[in-house]
Amino acid sequence: MKRLTIVLTLSFGVALAVVAGCRAGRESLGPTTRPNIVLITIDTLRADRLRRGFTPAIDGLADAGVRFDNARTTVPLTLPSHVTIMTGLLPVAHGVRENGVVFTPRPSAVPLPRVFKNAGYQTGGFVGAYVLDRRFGLADGFDMYDDRIRRDPDEGARLEAERPGGEVVDAAVVWLKQVTSQFFMWVHLYDPHAPYDPPAGYREKAGGDAYNGEVAYADAQVARIVEVLRARGVLSSTVVVVAGDHGEGLGEHGEQTHGMLAYDSTLRVPLVLSGATLQKRVVSAPVSLADIAPSLLRLAGLPPPGGHSADLLAPESRERDVYAETQYPRSAAWHPLAALAGERWKLILSSETELYDLSNDPAEQHDVAAAHAGVVQGMTTRLTTLKAAAPPAPAAVATDASERLRALGYVSGSSVPSGGDPRAPNPSRVIDAWTTFETALSQINSGRPQDALAALKALAARFPDAPVFQTTYGRALKDAGRPADAVAVYRQAVQRIRDASLYHDLAVAARAAGNLTEAFKAEQAALALEGRNPAALNGLGLLHAEAGRAKEAAAAFEQATALDPSNASYWTNLGNARRELPDFSQAEAAYRRALDVDPTYADAANGLGTILVQTGKPAAAVAWFERALQHAPDFYEARLNLGIALQESGQRDRATAVYREILAKAPARFKREREAAAKLLGQKK
Ligand SMILES: [Zn+2]
Repeated sequence: MKRLTIVLTLSFGVALAVVAGCRAGRESLGPTTRPNIVLITIDTLRADRLRRGFTPAIDGLADAGVRFDNARTTVPLTLPSHVTIMTGLLPVAHGVRENGVVFTPRPSAVPLPRVFKNAGYQTGGFVGAYVLDRRFGLADGFDMYDDRIRRDPDEGARLEAERPGGEVVDAAVVWLKQVTSQFFMWVHLYDPHAPYDPPAGYREKAGGDAYNGEVAYADAQVARIVEVLRARGVLSSTVVVVAGDHGEGLGEHGEQTHGMLAYDSTLRVPLVLSGATLQKRVVSAPVSLADIAPSLLRLAGLPPPGGHSADLLAPESRERDVYAETQYPRSAAWHPLAALAGERWKLILSSETELYDLSNDPAEQHDVAAAHAGVVQGMTTRLTTLKAAAPPAPAAVATDASERLRALGYVSGSSVPSGGDPRAPNPSRVIDAWTTFETALSQINSGRPQDALAALKALAARFPDAPVFQTTYGRALKDAGRPADAVAVYRQAVQRIRDASLYHDLAVAARAAGNLTEAFKAEQAALALEGRNPAALNGLGLLHAEAGRAKEAAAAFEQATALDPSNASYWTNLGNARRELPDFSQAEAAYRRALDVDPTYADAANGLGTILVQTGKPAAAVAWFERALQHAPDFYEARLNLGIALQESGQRDRATAVYREILAKAPARFKREREAAAKLLGQKK
């Protein structure tokens, strides 16, 4: 009881600080020998995957250090979980309760890298997924924040974009080899997240299972980091933390992935602290990922910022219970979940109350709430108090936004309710619908949108207030070549749900359907609701560009790139708009930014080549077009440009070969390129 809790920490902050100070003196290396910190978070790593033979590196760290056998995340979602890890705060306190929300550091929520940097540490962060992109706020305090993650240019800001752990660790190792003083390094490995497709050899190493194979691959990356620490002679002065950010359902309770339910398949995570002077130990009392930050700060002899929870290295407290939640079900118009888990009991609150006796039923199969009313009442009171500590929700859409929407011709419904409609379904009762949805989504993502249409149509009809079903149905229609039908779905959806992304999706579909007037209005509606939405600003820029308004287009792309600087397609669009102005030197700068973000981005290389041709340097342009084609062989515009650059620089034979190749290989839909190639070939004869 005495370590529950943020509530107690808040109420008795002074007393706890005294106790914490004593502990810090015992465990700390002292300010003169502060340890380096390496924090490795592995996405979607279930607690029960360690010690099964395919995670030798993590097991080795655990055997030498402190292993927590009863650790839980605070949210089974990547961004909120990492904000908790970095701040030591519960999601109700740090305010990031879903992916895609921006974390704002403030005096009551100072992230670890900022504290370490202020204490003189060098700080480096290396992440493997777009969901942790700098625009969501976790880069604060890092000298180096490496979030170079390639994105599907057609889909813009897709949260699923990732890069393999090997590339993340390559970058981390380069940084690690050149640090000159004490350091705090964070490495995020996304690999075990769905879809499960481990590199060759790892599936076999893990007994043939694809998810386990991804875990084995992530473990091999942990081994590389440990090896560099050892080779540099700093392993003994470094605290290495390995933690999962949340687990994975893998079918338990009907949940395939994570985020929708709050059972231990997705809440329980591995947690290991190893190195420096830490004594070997196994802790079986309940702990939370919220405890990492205060523990690391105490180890470094730094004062933990206020409001933090418990010290992982203090004596175990078996009376403690830990908080977790998920708001994600709101996206499906289902009830959000909050949970409290102690050594024996676990309570889950939604529109229903569930209680599990973990000591007899660790798989949470038998709800015993009815038989233990007293336990339910006590835990409900504690949970309700914790939830009430939440700062007020962001203000509802301002009235001027409503007026602007009306001026654009939209009568829009309410925004998604944050508190949860008490009649909304308990997500565990409708989880089958979510599995159906995930199957449909993977069909869309693998280029088979028509296969997903029937299921999504049914889901959209069954849950008309669910933004995620409406927007995904619309996307499937658009991808299946039915943009006008997609527009109809989005038009209906925005009448019920007030959401900037839905308006942006409406705009994208309207543009695909050739209705530029509606597309323009819908992007403006998106921006009325969320003026700093980079996807909508980029969409607006594209519409301006298409209408020949290069100046307005460039201004919109400038805003989009300022808000989301790691998006190569936004930079390339900015380059294209500036080239139209024309402002070649600023266009070149934008294209080069795109290639900094993604060196394989063919459109940017094509843009740079085009500038060189336009400014009379065709020979220098050849290499840029070749670079574009190396990464996108079917990019016939770049191939045509290559021919022109060769021809203009006097390499006529090579130019002829390129034009002939276009005529031989380009499908009929590349009409413009085919006609130009034929014409240019004719000219030379
Ligand atoms: Zn995650």
